[in-house]
Amino acid sequence: MDGPFDLAIIGGGIHGACLARDAAGRGLSVLLVERGRLGGETSSASSRLIHGGLRYLEHLDLRLVREALAEREILLATAPHLVRPLQFVLPLPPDARPAWMVRFGLALYDRLGGRGALPGSHAARLAGSPFGAPLRPGLERGFLYWDARADDARLVLANALDAAARGADVRPRTELLSARREGGLWHLDLAPRPVDGRLPLGVPRDAGVASARALANAAGPWAMQVQHERLARPSPRRLRLVRGSHVVVPRLHAGRHAYILQQPDRRVVFVLPFGDDASVLGTTEVVVDRPGPARMDAAECEYLCAAAARFLREPPTPRDVLASWSGVRPLLDDGRASASAVTRDYALDLEAAGAPLLSVWGGKLTTCRRLAERALDLLSPHFPAARGAWTAAAALPGGDLPAGRDADARAAVEAEALQRSPGALPPALAAALVARHGTQARALLDGGGPGPELAPGLHAAELEWCVRREWALTAEDVLWRRTKAGLHATPAQRQAVESRLGSLLPTAD
Ligand SMILES: Cc1cc2nc3c(=O)[nH]c(=O)nc-3n(C[C@H](O)[C@H](O)[C@H](O)COP(=O)(O)OP(=O)(O)OC[C@H]3O[C@@H](n4cnc5c(N)ncnc54)[C@H](O)[C@@H]3O)c2cc1C
Repeated sequence: MDGPFDLAIIGGGIHGACLARDAAGRGLSVLLVERGRLGGETSSASSRLIHGGLRYLEHLDLRLVREALAEREILLATAPHLVRPLQFVLPLPPDARPAWMVRFGLALYDRLGGRGALPGSHAARLAGSPFGAPLRPGLERGFLYWDARADDARLVLANALDAAARGADVRPRTELLSARREGGLWHLDLAPRPVDGRLPLGVPRDAGVASARALANAAGPWAMQVQHERLARPSPRRLRLVRGSHVVVPRLHAGRHAYILQQPDRRVVFVLPFGDDASVLGTTEVVVDRPGPARMDAAECEYLCAAAARFLREPPTPRDVLASWSGVRPLLDDGRASASAVTRDYALDLEAAGAPLLSVWGGKLTTCRRLAERALDLLSPHFPAARGAWTAAAALPGGDLPAGRDADARAAVEAEALQRSPGALPPALAAALVARHGTQARALLDGGGPGPELAPGLHAAELEWCVRREWALTAEDVLWRRTKAGLHATPAQRQAVESRLGSLLPTAD
């Protein structure tokens, strides 16, 4: 029997990882179990925006927007390698919201965000400017504003890595089968879930039971199911499950900015840069009755291409799609009729009779840190010796880049220093390593070179780091979650990654 831990957490998405980090930093002993890969579900299927959510203003979700904008500032400062400023172009088609309404919304957005690291919004003449170049004739006016974007999968990992560095026992590929309260503790039945006989390094094979003083349900879209089927508890809330899909297509515009395209159904579709030569289009909203598996259907793909075609001179067609991803949003059911109107806010419930049970409902990537902080504050009467909130000013692993206000500039200084390290890295590789690992890129290279290139942009030293330090188990973990090398990898390169992984990971006897 492992434990008793102070806190056991079910689910290794962004919320489970942030809970584990916050709790471990307060001095609690923590167990985090994730049945698949860390961040392998909703938390690596997002639009990757760290934003207040301009659109939520229309639904008067002012609390959420204010909190999310404050969190945007915190993440830009504490994870500048993973969270970068992103400029948006908002064209004004004649049949969408009137210019005065958009101007008012952006002024409110600027005001709620306060004076932070990002510039304010302003109106712009798009015709004749680089921002207007990919747009259809007639889209002459618009607005420019700033938000931020993140590497969502890596943000989960950064939180999990920090939790582990502070003593948390982080176990991907370990499913919670059931948990029951007994003698003032939660008793957990666990099952390791190896892939081809292998588990990530450090994850025990024989851990069948554990106990904890408190339990947190952070199972995202599975939270209701976990509540009913694994904990045998009634669910105090209802979730609306809404699938969203993204497609990757060849680059649709030059430049590092993004577009936010207003659609006739009053939704917005984003066009985001994805590396140097691809763009991402997203997202859709399809109400579903179960959390997974989430897969895009043909109608979603057509919707996204049609959304782009309303604005772009050379829009993509479904035949241009290079890759896609889908995830299921766990939305807090607030009774609103349309999926796009349902709040993106979150709720926390604490059942404190006996060993406490904390449940997380809804939430966004952007507000993950604050959600975890509130959750641990709720639990604090049960752990009087624990320290108080601490994450607002603490850098995530790799986030202690050289000082400065601008995340891009800070990363550039670090990348230049890395280029001069032994092995003389090419500038693009140095920048990519800093974007993924921040200041930890130096430790990853371990005073040597990057080693042979196994797939475009993925070298042997980074693959080893992902296995030894970041619980990577499969080629997909490395090619899609920890890097995006999968986009251009050939089948032979995938195979090379797979066999290198095999040589680093022991199988069961
Ligand atoms: C299409 C889309 C676009 C989005 N875009 C944005 C955006 O741009 N910005 C933003 O801020 N937010 C965005 N979001 C929202 C954000 O991604 C989610 O709110 C967030 O990732 C939810 O995280 P989670 O940890 O609650 O859930 P998840 O990431 O799904 O994690 C829950 C985990 O629990 C695990 N689990 C379930 N049952 C068990 C069990 N029995 N034992 C062990 N583990 C279990 C699952 O395997 C899963 O990994 C988007 C979401 C979607 C779907």
